Amino acid sequence: MKALIIDEHIAAAAAAEGVAMHALLRELYPLTRSITGAGLRATVMRLGAEVPLDVTEVPSGTKVFDWTVPDEWSIDEAFIEHESGRRFAEFRKLNLHVVGYSTPMDTTMTLDALRPHLHSLPDQPDFVPFVNSYYKPDWGFCLTHRELQSLPLGKYRVVIRSRIFPGSLTLAEHVHHGSSTEEILIFAHDCHPSLANDNLSGLVVATRLAAFLSRRETRYTYRFLFAPATIGSITWLATNELTLPKIRHGLVLSLLGDGGALHYKKSRGGNHAIDRAAWHVLRKEFPASRLLDFSPWGYDERQFCSPGINLPMGRLTRTPNGEFIEYHTSGDNVDFVLPQTLGQSWLACLKIFEALEADTSYVNLSPKGEPQLGRRGLYRSTGGYYTDVPDRQMALFWMLNQSDGCTTLLDIAEKSGLSAGILARAAIDLQASGLLQVATVEKAHRP
Ligand code: ZN
Repeated sequence: MKALIIDEHIAAAAAAEGVAMHALLRELYPLTRSITGAGLRATVMRLGAEVPLDVTEVPSGTKVFDWTVPDEWSIDEAFIEHESGRRFAEFRKLNLHVVGYSTPMDTTMTLDALRPHLHSLPDQPDFVPFVNSYYKPDWGFCLTHRELQSLPLGKYRVVIRSRIFPGSLTLAEHVHHGSSTEEILIFAHDCHPSLANDNLSGLVVATRLAAFLSRRETRYTYRFLFAPATIGSITWLATNELTLPKIRHGLVLSLLGDGGALHYKKSRGGNHAIDRAAWHVLRKEFPASRLLDFSPWGYDERQFCSPGINLPMGRLTRTPNGEFIEYHTSGDNVDFVLPQTLGQSWLACLKIFEALEADTSYVNLSPKGEPQLGRRGLYRSTGGYYTDVPDRQMALFWMLNQSDGCTTLLDIAEKSGLSAGILARAAIDLQASGLLQVATVEKAHRP
């Protein structure tokens, strides 16, 4: 088993990873996911073929903090049919055509009576919107504004073959055990039907990260959690409170496949190691990246960073939710997601993990004067880790000079301007040469 070193070979593999992730995403795209139900289970089953998943079914009616696990929803068919026999908003053609959690229906009505149940986007007339009514019994159809405007007058048969019944909500986890029981939590929501960047990109990146880590030795234990947005993360938090003290760092992943730059949103605390590591990696290695302050809005960071939970958890996306016109529409399809950005997002996550893994304080075992590096072969590029020899040598000097048992690797990265990855590799070489060791009593990370 290899340690978590993200060298040039792994960086070069990111393109192929992106192609594999995009293929997996295309397979998952047609499934009718929701916050419960068969499409959600089928998604978890398919991801479970990539990495082993522990699946927990939490029964409808279970109280979870201020919420209650809802009844399960299943759907087989939905359409509206004009008296001429022409059908519109056919669920079988696109699952976004039916409002999520629509109640069953088989009736006939005029277009005027039907209209309040039809949803479209006048500003984006070629996209079908994504609409749900999880907690209020309702029904409806979504279609392009162009199609809505072209609907012929007359009577319509409205058919929704759905069921709402006491069932369960599906949670899925993959745990990669490190040498420590301290955990890094990676969360991706899995409750959106045919939407590619929103939900599927996070799921496929997280799944391929888990598969990669399964072939590596790590310090941290990595917990990958796939659950419906909001109710799913709340359900997991409410049923796993004993796990929470072990979580040292966390990342919410979604929107990782569009063409925009990477965006890191800070945790509620704003200056945890995850905040420092993520922004260090993005700023240094993905130069167009942007840093966002915490806000109690967005994805499941809202739950993980609620005041009574308050995990050190940030969020990684490309273009944030609501800032691209395809968001929550049929425009967020498989062609909107690019293999190369999926691969780049995967690589960025690995580099963040690499920085967190190495971020501890070390002790220089030969601190009086500089140790003689040439004698130990440290002036040569060893192991093929480095293409930039001056940086590599500077990394050795910085690690030796600053390793006083208190200063952490991220402190040194910030002081030196060198990447955490290069410093991490220098730390490994110096430890192999007997010049450095991990400090026995780690300084706590900055608050
Ligand atoms: Zn969404």
